[in-house]
Amino acid sequence: MIPAPSIPRWLQSSDPGWSTAADVIVVGSGIAGLSAALRLRQRVDRVLLVTKTVLDEGSTGWAQGGIAAAMDPKDSAEEHLRDTLVAGVGLCDPEAVRVLVTEGPTAVRELIELGAQFDRSASGEISLTREGGHHANRILHAGGDATGKEISRALIAALHRVIEDPGIEVIEHALVVDLLHTEDRRVCGVTLHVIGEGQVDGVGSAYARAVVLATGGLGQIYSATTNPPVATADGMAAALRAGAAIADLEFVQFHPTVLWLGEGSSGQQPLISEAVRGEGAFLVDACGERFMTAVHPLADLAPRDVVSRAIIAHMASAGTDHVFLDCRHLGAAFLEERFPSIVARCRELGFDPATQPLPVAPAQHYASGGIKTCLEGRSSLEGLYACGEVSCTGVHGANRLASNSLLEGLVFARRIAEDITTRFAAGELPLTTRAPRRGSQALVRGKRRLAIQRAMTAGSGTVRSARSLAAAAEALSSIKAASQHREGGPQSWETTNLLHVGQVLTYAAALREETRGGHVRSDFPERDDGHFLGHTVVARGEDDTLNASWHPVARQEGIT
Ligand SMILES: Cc1cc2nc3c(=O)[nH]c(=O)nc-3n(C[C@H](O)[C@H](O)[C@H](O)COP(=O)(O)OP(=O)(O)OC[C@H]3O[C@@H](n4cnc5c(N)ncnc54)[C@H](O)[C@@H]3O)c2cc1C
Repeated sequence: MIPAPSIPRWLQSSDPGWSTAADVIVVGSGIAGLSAALRLRQRVDRVLLVTKTVLDEGSTGWAQGGIAAAMDPKDSAEEHLRDTLVAGVGLCDPEAVRVLVTEGPTAVRELIELGAQFDRSASGEISLTREGGHHANRILHAGGDATGKEISRALIAALHRVIEDPGIEVIEHALVVDLLHTEDRRVCGVTLHVIGEGQVDGVGSAYARAVVLATGGLGQIYSATTNPPVATADGMAAALRAGAAIADLEFVQFHPTVLWLGEGSSGQQPLISEAVRGEGAFLVDACGERFMTAVHPLADLAPRDVVSRAIIAHMASAGTDHVFLDCRHLGAAFLEERFPSIVARCRELGFDPATQPLPVAPAQHYASGGIKTCLEGRSSLEGLYACGEVSCTGVHGANRLASNSLLEGLVFARRIAEDITTRFAAGELPLTTRAPRRGSQALVRGKRRLAIQRAMTAGSGTVRSARSLAAAAEALSSIKAASQHREGGPQSWETTNLLHVGQVLTYAAALREETRGGHVRSDFPERDDGHFLGHTVVARGEDDTLNASWHPVARQEGIT
């Protein structure tokens, strides 16, 4: 068994040189953060929205396939619920999924009213497509395969319409380093590093009655990911250091069809959306033989974990590092119209989906676990909320259903805004100041990032075993031991966050001795409901050692 890692309380940074205050601080400007900030500004006096680089940087802008919602009269929330529960392999919280699927259509309609333009048929109806794991056409898309870009554009345009309003302040190039809290762990603000001018420059403190973390995913923990460079798990790591509970971190979704660019290519890799398979493309081996038809009744549109696992098994038996996605029969004209961005990107990189099968392999795509929240988005720490990919609301279980994540950001941002408003009206969450910064601090050098990514990819990646996880844990703790230094800065803060979240992920993955959803163990290849039908929840203990607790769930009859 891997020893429980020790998690420090703070990142090393200089003392704050400036301070500000607001009612609510929203951290992150993806679908979750922008939706929360726009809604909150109509309800509380002062919202501060901070984002690490520029407003449109984050996973949201990269989303291709679309956003799932039962908008078709022939479809229903009940069917969306069922597909989501099946994809989550017994670990979705049915109440959270019910919230998602019943409030989803209204949230999407509001997004349309705000200005988001989804693709429509010649008769003006919203075009709905299908992706893996869905039994109905319920995916709205925009610009063919540029859904995230359009959603981000619409939300940022809405923000610009109110930017002069004194009720909202936006600070770009503001990296949140840590959460500020009182002695009794009530979150009351953040420390942040701003590359700015004048008084708001360098490390400062921002105080608030509530903090909403909407910092996105953790993809940069791995060598190859579809996530952009800002996805360095900062929010999750800050919450972990502050003592918040983190759930289901071992469930990492590896997208089955990421363009394979050759051995050793690393960083953000081009995604070939599941919607391409939704339109009829299929996976083949080097001989052109389809292999998904023998694996699952939905064949190439089986849930993502099933497809990824089948590809990995196929690659292992054939001794290769990729398979192929055949789209040729869809024709150049259709591909160019339906998937303009994907086709252009492939051609830029020397691949033509209209004339050749595309080499593809699984790569990290989505964190199904995260900061544990209730249905109102509250974390285990008073005053701290989490929204979007950084959170674990319970809607994804062991594996996210395609196109449910944009929807989750929208739906739970609404709920968080409502909850904060209600609590403020009841006089809860008063503004307070933090306790002095005491206790353990840490920092590793930015240049250790590649070593962390290599260790995580080899040991805690697509296929794990007790041996590989122990090797990853060992490598990560040697990086930690060898690389303490005192000069804080964005590179070293991000790298330290990757290290800590990587250690926790590896620890949680070692505890789950079964294969389920996004968690694949070669030494425990079967799902084991007898021992593992439940959630792994971890949190930093008083002595800084990570504590794990086990939360069994009921069997979902008729689903799993
Ligand atoms: C290539 C790709 C395709 C996808 N396709 C789909 C799809 O078709 N449908 C779907 O539902 N989902 C899709 N997803 C997943 C989905 O895009 C994300 O889960 C979702 O956009 C997450 O939204 P978010 O608001 O939680 O985070 P993000 O959009 O990632 O935003 C996070 C924000 O937090 C900021 N931030 C991070 N750290 C800090 C810090 N320390 N301080 C301040 N700010 C910080 C970032 O700069 C960013 O603004 C896709 C993801 C990728 C990468």
